[in-house]
Amino acid sequence: MRTSTLKRRNGGGVEESAIAAFRDGFAGQTIRPGDAAYDTARRIWNASIDRRPGLIARCTGTADVVRAVRFAREQNLLVAVRGGGHNVGGRAVCDDGIVIDLSGMKGVFVDPARRTVRVRAGALLGEVDRETHLHGLAVPLGTVSRTGVAGLTLGGGVGWLVRKHGLACDNLLGCEVVTATGEVLTADAESHPNLFWGLRGGGGNFGIVTSFLFRAHPVSTVLGGLILYPRDQARALLPYYRDFMATAPDELTAYCGLIAQPDGTPAALIGACYAGDPAEGERVLEPLRRFGRPFLDAIQPMPFPIMQTLADEAFPDGTYNYWKSAFVTALGDVVVDVLVEHGNRAGSPLSGVMVELYGGAAGRIAPEATAFAQRQAQFMIGISAQWTDPAESERHVGWARDLADALQPHASGGYLLNFLGEDPQAVRGAFGSNYARLARLKARYDPTNLFSLNPNVAPAREAEPSPAFS
Ligand code: FAD
Repeated sequence: MRTSTLKRRNGGGVEESAIAAFRDGFAGQTIRPGDAAYDTARRIWNASIDRRPGLIARCTGTADVVRAVRFAREQNLLVAVRGGGHNVGGRAVCDDGIVIDLSGMKGVFVDPARRTVRVRAGALLGEVDRETHLHGLAVPLGTVSRTGVAGLTLGGGVGWLVRKHGLACDNLLGCEVVTATGEVLTADAESHPNLFWGLRGGGGNFGIVTSFLFRAHPVSTVLGGLILYPRDQARALLPYYRDFMATAPDELTAYCGLIAQPDGTPAALIGACYAGDPAEGERVLEPLRRFGRPFLDAIQPMPFPIMQTLADEAFPDGTYNYWKSAFVTALGDVVVDVLVEHGNRAGSPLSGVMVELYGGAAGRIAPEATAFAQRQAQFMIGISAQWTDPAESERHVGWARDLADALQPHASGGYLLNFLGEDPQAVRGAFGSNYARLARLKARYDPTNLFSLNPNVAPAREAEPSPAFS
């Protein structure tokens, strides 16, 4: 009997006859090593990830997802689930196993009367913005238009509307989910509410979501954009941003960072989005715009979908990436010094450090109300090493790690799930006090850990025998 490069989790190749039987009833495309499409299909946003799956199953709909999940389970395969392919840790692709690829499952359906939006699992952020904007609506998602809605939302999802309207997962009304047994469920406030709790920030541990139902908000034109300063103003800008944000209204989400200009000149930056009355926005932003001597103040009214693309060019496809993050308890002088000192040492003009304060609507939801626990009013420091020459990888990874280590004495122990790499301690830190409940939920919905390539929660040894636990 012929076996293939598709390997079982406990070793041994899957028989060709089993793969042929699977393909027979699968409506989408299946791609294997040696196929012309293979190298393109296994590529993801982060070029540092070079994995060779045994089979890529490009699903056309929920029935394909069910078929792929059942096949993976029967054959004991390592499973990767791909949405937008933007997970920096490369969790959308695996070696030797199966990639259940949802990227072709496009579709965004707006109900303007109810202000709801149904989004299929392969949609990217910009595809949602394009449809909702037609109706003067927006769903709170992220900040880069090519990121996948699925991975971003399941990990929480912070973006330009986080302070006004909450996280992406806070605006989720329900999901269609394929479980590890291949069952199709609706998870919402009434149906499987515990599963719904876990999907809002639990990061893909509990099943494959085939579509999301979101609440949308009337957001059409925002006052937003970037202000760029010479790097030598960063030391003063960071505390100014901290103090300014202490009294900023929810309408304003603003980040502050150290980046480089397109020509490589080191710079400091404020990125801001005011989602409210533009005249009031001008008044609110005025003190921020008064600071220092900027190179450029490009804050202006713009359609929300344009705001959502301002950071796109800073994260081109095919670069090498390594990201770290930490929440710091306060943005005091010592932390500012650490950020500036290390930021000035970044060896690549594409690398950056971003300081982000959430709070607002996201902070008024209790940490235990959804799986997303990191709702405290602390500053999130995102460290993104990004470079173009693979021979330099060690140097850039080292820079990101050194900065993360230097922040440790000031860190809360919490992490932003969506920016996590492989560190299991950081996964626990990200889930915080919700970890035990997530482990029970994992035992209930995925006791064999079929869905393991995610910020993984180990199934609790015994599922909680509670009638409310559905
Ligand atoms: P993929 O790489 O396709 O999938 C990642 C993982 O998500 C999968 O391995 C799986 O575990 C899970 N998953 C994906 N789809 C499904 C599904 N349908 N069902 C179950 N599990 C699934 N995050 C923010 O919160 N805010 C931001 O502003 C932001 N900006 C970013 C900008 C860039 C340039 C990048 C690279 C990332 C950014 N992120 C941001 C992080 C991003 O949200 C996460 O990396 C997220 O995982 C990407 O989702 P994806 O669908 O593209 O991921």
